Amino acid sequence: MRHNRKIKSFDYQTARHEFKNGLFFDANENHRQWVKIDWRRLKNLHLYPDDEGQELKSKLAAYHGSLGLKTENIYLGSGGIEIIRLIIKTFRQPGRQLTTFNPSYAFYDIAAGREKVVINKLNLRADFSINLRELQKNIAQTNILFICSPNNPTGNLLIDKTMLAEILNFYHGLLVVDEAYIDFAGEKKSLIKYIKQYDNLLVLRTFSKAWGLAGIRVGYAVGHEKIITALNQQRNPYNLSRLSQAIAIQALEQKNGLKRNLKENKILKEELLKELKKLGFSPQNTAANFIILKTNHADGLYRRLGHNGIVVRHLANDKKLPGIIRISVNSRANNRKLIATLRQFNAAKA
Ligand code: PMP
Repeated sequence: MRHNRKIKSFDYQTARHEFKNGLFFDANENHRQWVKIDWRRLKNLHLYPDDEGQELKSKLAAYHGSLGLKTENIYLGSGGIEIIRLIIKTFRQPGRQLTTFNPSYAFYDIAAGREKVVINKLNLRADFSINLRELQKNIAQTNILFICSPNNPTGNLLIDKTMLAEILNFYHGLLVVDEAYIDFAGEKKSLIKYIKQYDNLLVLRTFSKAWGLAGIRVGYAVGHEKIITALNQQRNPYNLSRLSQAIAIQALEQKNGLKRNLKENKILKEELLKELKKLGFSPQNTAANFIILKTNHADGLYRRLGHNGIVVRHLANDKKLPGIIRISVNSRANNRKLIATLRQFNAAKA
């Protein structure tokens, strides 16, 4: 087969595809791998993993303690990314749309495109909140609705229990609430506890952010058994390696480490906000492990930083929304390097 056109090999482009080296502030990973791993417990790699991930699911059910989750309420996947694609693949219906918001996590659009599902994108308000009336008016063709809370890239919580009730009053399709960053906002804000009340609510979580384990690729979805069963019917066998399962299990045994890391992250975020303000920026705090800068020169700033070894994320410019630079909270030393580089730019401008 001959290809004459230049084909873009991968549509999920990140800053790291463009700037391969440097300090990474672009992907909202944890600033360190804090989970202590006992490698001696990783045994029997000549055997396939437990296809159903029973031990990990039981540990997750226990982690979410008082909710009385059963393992049947939990789906395990290779990161939230794999689960997002599988949700769309499983629940897509001819002639129905997927609704999400602008700006929000880019992979919802990409996955919908790959599954040939028409996407209906509604603008968030200027304060980055959902316009409920507009949602209600534009949801008739939709059977999959994605709400990211805290939202990536704006970092605010998009939905609480009141809004959940309001939306599910007029919308009866599948509602996916992506809580990749909820640990930073506090577990109390999670909507997992409402999966018993609403059988069309599915909550997504991941080990990639607060747990500091983006490298092992473990995510999970919590919802009614019938949703979980439908997903399992589409799943590839052994989709979660023995290594990944074993490490996620060890992580769940270190809840105090999670608490410590969340505290540390909060302090580092506050320090970063303070330093950025001193430089004359107006950074916005978020309920997640990143901060945002709204600027009219987002692309220029992104490039200048990138060429100086500081990789941040630049998010789409929209007529209604200014350009956004998203910066993940990093270690104290790396945050200082970011600030020092920005200070040089300021000096160059003066
Ligand atoms: N949801 C959101 C909102 C994200 O920002 C990300 C990663 N950036 C994911 C899901 C996917 O994360 P993972 O596949 O690592 O679990």
